[in-house]
Amino acid sequence: MYDAIVVGGGHNGLTAAAYLARGGLKTLVLERREIVGGCCVTEEIAPGCKASTTSYIASMLRPEVIKDLKLAEHGLRMVPCDPAIQVAFPEGRVVPWWADRERAVAEFRKHSANDAETFVRVDDQLKKLARYLQPFFLEPPPEIDARSVSGWGDLFRVGKRFRNISNVEIAQLVALLTGSLGEFLDRNYESETIKTMFLANNVYGKHGGPYQPGTAIGLLFHLLSGGEHELQGFYGHVMGGMGAISEALAASGRKLGVEIRTSAPVARIDTRNENARGVILEDGTEIRARIVLSNADPKRTFLKMIPESELPAEFVHAIRGIKMAGPCAKVNLALSEEPRFTGTPASHTPLERTFYTIVPSLEFAERCYDFAKFGGIPEELWVDCVIASNADDTLAPAGTHIMTCFVQYVPYKLREGTWDEKREVLGDRVIRKIAEYAPNVPNSIIARQVLTPLDLERTYGLTEGNIFHGDLTLEQLFFMRPVAGWSQYRTPIEGLYLCGAGAHPGGGVTGAPGHNAAQQALRDWKKGRFKAGAA
Ligand SMILES: Cc1cc2nc3c(=O)[nH]c(=O)nc-3n(C[C@H](O)[C@H](O)[C@H](O)COP(=O)(O)OP(=O)(O)OC[C@H]3O[C@@H](n4cnc5c(N)ncnc54)[C@H](O)[C@@H]3O)c2cc1C
Repeated sequence: MYDAIVVGGGHNGLTAAAYLARGGLKTLVLERREIVGGCCVTEEIAPGCKASTTSYIASMLRPEVIKDLKLAEHGLRMVPCDPAIQVAFPEGRVVPWWADRERAVAEFRKHSANDAETFVRVDDQLKKLARYLQPFFLEPPPEIDARSVSGWGDLFRVGKRFRNISNVEIAQLVALLTGSLGEFLDRNYESETIKTMFLANNVYGKHGGPYQPGTAIGLLFHLLSGGEHELQGFYGHVMGGMGAISEALAASGRKLGVEIRTSAPVARIDTRNENARGVILEDGTEIRARIVLSNADPKRTFLKMIPESELPAEFVHAIRGIKMAGPCAKVNLALSEEPRFTGTPASHTPLERTFYTIVPSLEFAERCYDFAKFGGIPEELWVDCVIASNADDTLAPAGTHIMTCFVQYVPYKLREGTWDEKREVLGDRVIRKIAEYAPNVPNSIIARQVLTPLDLERTYGLTEGNIFHGDLTLEQLFFMRPVAGWSQYRTPIEGLYLCGAGAHPGGGVTGAPGHNAAQQALRDWKKGRFKAGAA
C-alpha cells in the first residue's frame, strides 16, 4: 500500500511526486510510456540524433522548483537564448530580439525610433503588471464563493496584493487579460516589423489569431520570471534537450524515495463511495494508495479513467466543455548540414544561429488561424525553428544537426480526410516553407518526424493534441481551471487531485501545477484526512 500514486510521469507528475516524498509520503509514479517526461522529453529521431521532440524551450520553469528539488545537482543546465527570439522575414532579413534590453532597443531603433522608445515604456509597464500576477503562480487560486474562515483569509490575502494598484493599472491589466494582441500592438507600435516580433513571441500554442480577444494575455505570461536566476522574460536552451529537466526531476524524486514505473498505463482510478483507493493498470494489476494525483489532462482523467456515474453530472458536463482541439504540430529533423537562413549576419555565433521564427506579419497569422479553425491545413504555415545542435553539440554526431519545427495553427479535426492520410502533406508544407528561408534544408534531411495533433494525442497522451491540457484563455484560467469550483487541485472524488497542466496555472514547462497540487495534498494529509478513509 502506497501513501500516494501519481498517474503519469510528465514533468508535473514528477514534480508532484518529489514534493510528496519530501513531505514523507511513500510515493509511486506510474507512466504509460517507456520513458518519463510526457511532453518534456529528449528522444532519438535517427541513430545518435536526439531531439526535444515536443516542448523545446524552457522559459517558465519555476526557480523555486529548480532550487527545492536541487535540479542543478541532478544535471540540469540551461543556456539563455540570445537572441531570445529571432524572426526571419520573407525578403531575406533576419531580425533578432536580443536578451539584453539595451541591445534590443538599439535593434528596434533601426526599424523605428518611436517604437524603440515606446518599447522601453511598455516593457516597464508589462513587467510591473506581470509582477502582480507572479505570486499567483505557486499557490491555489482563491475560492471566489468562500464560506470558510480560511477561504475568506485567502481572498483577503489576494486582495491585499492589489492594494497599491492604480486605476490605470487595473484598466491595463483587464485590457491585457481580455483584449487582442493585434489591437494592443496597433495602439502602441508603428513598425510592422516590430509588431511581428511581438507576435512571434506571444500567442504560442493558443487558439486564436492575433486579433482575437484574449490573445494579449501572452504578453504578461511571458514576463513571469523563469530560469534559475528568476529573470523576467527568460528563454533557455536546455543542455541535453528538454528531457534533461524530466530526468533531473526523476533523479531528485528517486533520491527522496519516489518509485517510478514506466510502461505502466493506468486504465482506471479506483474509487469507492467517492473516495480514491488506488488504480487499476491496463494489465489488470490493482495498486492501492491513500491518495491519487493525476498528471493526465482533465478530459483523460475524468472522462476515461473514472466511471461517469461516480462524478456529479454538472462536473462531467463542465469537463466535456473544456476547449482543447489542437491547434499545433511539430516536425523534427535530423540534417546533414546546418540550415543556412538567408540574411543571418556572418558575425552570428552558433548560439545566435539557433532560433528562427517564420511568421511574416499579423495579417498572415490571422489568415492562417482562420483557415485552420475551419479544419484546413494552411498552405502557408507559421513555423518556429530551433537548431538545437547549435546550442548543444552533444545532441547529434559531429557535422549533423537537429532542427525542431513547431507549427502554430493546425486543426485537430480535419474537414477532409484524416491526419493519418495527411501527415506527410503537413511535413511537406513545413519543409517547403522553411526552404523559402533556408534553401539548403530540403536536400540535407536525414530523418523527418512529423507529429500531427493526432500523434500528440496517441503518443504523448494529450487529449485532442492540446499542448496545455486545455487552451489558455481567460475563461479557462485562475479559479476557472480546470473548471469553476475545482481550481484548488481537489476533485469531486475525495483523495484524488489533479497535478498536471490542466490545473492552475496551466500549461508550459513550469512545474507549478505539480508543486501546488502536492502542497495541497500534503496540507490535507497533515490534517489527517486520509488516515483511515481509503484503506
Ligand atoms: C509540441 C509541443 C511543444 C511545446 N513547446 C513548449 C515549449 O517550448 N516550452 C514550454 O514551456 N512548453 C511547451 N509545450 C507545453 C508543455 O510541454 C506542456 O504544457 C507540459 O509539458 C505539460 O506537462 P504535464 O506534466 O502537465 O503533462 P504531460 O507532459 O502531458 O504529462 C502527462 C503524462 O501522463 C501520462 N499519462 C497519461 N495518461 C496516463 C495513464 N492512463 N497512465 C499512465 N500515464 C498516463 C502521459 O503519458 C504523460 O507522460 C509544448 C508542448 C508540445 C506538445
